[in-house]
Amino acid sequence: MIKVAVAGCAGRMGTAVVDAVGKAEDMEVVCGIDPHGADLDASQPVFANVSEALEGAAFDVLVDFTQPNVVADNLRAALPAGVDCVVGTTGLSNQVLEELAASAAPGTCLFYAPNFTTGAVLMMEFAKAAAPYFPEAEVIEFHHCNKKDAPSGTAVRTAQIIAQARGGRASEAPGRETEMEGMEGARGALVEGVPVHAVRSMGYVASQEVMFGSLGQTLTIRHDSWDRTSYMPGVLLGIRSVGAREGLIVGLENFMS
Ligand code: NAD
Repeated sequence: MIKVAVAGCAGRMGTAVVDAVGKAEDMEVVCGIDPHGADLDASQPVFANVSEALEGAAFDVLVDFTQPNVVADNLRAALPAGVDCVVGTTGLSNQVLEELAASAAPGTCLFYAPNFTTGAVLMMEFAKAAAPYFPEAEVIEFHHCNKKDAPSGTAVRTAQIIAQARGGRASEAPGRETEMEGMEGARGALVEGVPVHAVRSMGYVASQEVMFGSLGQTLTIRHDSWDRTSYMPGVLLGIRSVGAREGLIVGLENFMS
């Protein structure tokens, strides 16, 4: 049995993780961690922070779906204690991830996936395959209006993958010079030369389009996540996989075969 602690257990994603882990036969939730978890009707203890959880419970894996401004501190407590971490909270830079992984006890894994849905991972793979053949690409992501970071981690990762697959050829991001004064940003944020647009609206969970353009043709790849259960197979795969791995691993594709 893999013993799991869930940070952010009172949140939208954390609630779904507690439910999914509880239903899996090879793992169990030993505790939740959330400063707003005191009122939860939970069947396991809920601690206010990771340090208290490490003192009060024994667990193999910490799953973190919290907030961009707290996730680094959570990992700073768990990794040196030898707890493998499965992280979905977005907003961590590569540099911070590397620093955190370096602080881990030997044999410990820090696994971060900007997107835990298999469909989004495939969308990024397809984008990687298309990028060398299309001079232009734009990423448009759509999320619910409570999302705390823009653009999304998936959009940033997609733009980075496209930039790498172009083999160093920079996009001209046509039209940026035409942005009206006082309306800068109309052509999106440039992430490694790829325009990225973030839409926030009620009605969405998480969707993304990658639009490629070439002479006389466009190619659009779209992924929609309609429900938070879409992330759970990926989260469970991460929990099952980290025990045999060490160091920093970024992206669910590393565990999909
Ligand atoms: P949410 O606001 O519903 O939940 C966050 C929870 O974290 C809250 O209950 C809050 O009280 C708790 N929290 C705050 N500080 C904490 C701390 N120090 N320790 C433990 N818990 C703490 O947010 P959400 O919609 O569940 O999203 C959580 C994160 O997951 C966001 O960063 C979001 O972008 C990310 N996310 C990632 C994926 C992915 O596939 N990687 C998918 C969806 C969401």
